[in-house]
Amino acid sequence: MLEKLQPNEIVDSIYQINLSHLKEKGIKAVIADLDNTLVPWRSTEIKDTLTAWVKDVKDAGLNLAIVSNNTSSRVHTLSEQLGVIAVSKAVKPRRRAFRNIASQFSLIPSEIAVVGDQLLTDVLGGNRTGMYTILVTPMSNHEFIGTKLIRQIERFFLKRIKNKST
Ligand SMILES: [Mg+2]
Repeated sequence: MLEKLQPNEIVDSIYQINLSHLKEKGIKAVIADLDNTLVPWRSTEIKDTLTAWVKDVKDAGLNLAIVSNNTSSRVHTLSEQLGVIAVSKAVKPRRRAFRNIASQFSLIPSEIAVVGDQLLTDVLGGNRTGMYTILVTPMSNHEFIGTKLIRQIERFFLKRIKNKST
């Protein structure tokens, strides 16, 4: 269980991800979570820094997709504005949405990096699918009440994961 929760990298934000390092590892696409990874929870505003990051990812020759558990049409509104494909209601950590994106890009799982702020959805789902996983610090403390409870469980695991590498 703990092994499946271990991200390959832990960084503060998407802006700390070393894209050329990912390329060297043979990564060809990035699947990003939406809420608290790309934008604060419930936000519909796309900051210039995010637009620039999306451009950096594409300029690096990487494909980009959004996979979100959120049900709202907001996922698709934002992804369209960013010019990337998206899957909503993804039911992460289930593998289906990740596999769906892999087949849309005609890539195998090991060629894809999953970026997200939650161990039990993003990292667990990515690891289960055989993808490279990157955990980011959540952008804001405001989130779905259910997520707040999950956070407590995640903190328990995160402590152990961080201890493991020291
Ligand atoms: Mg999230």
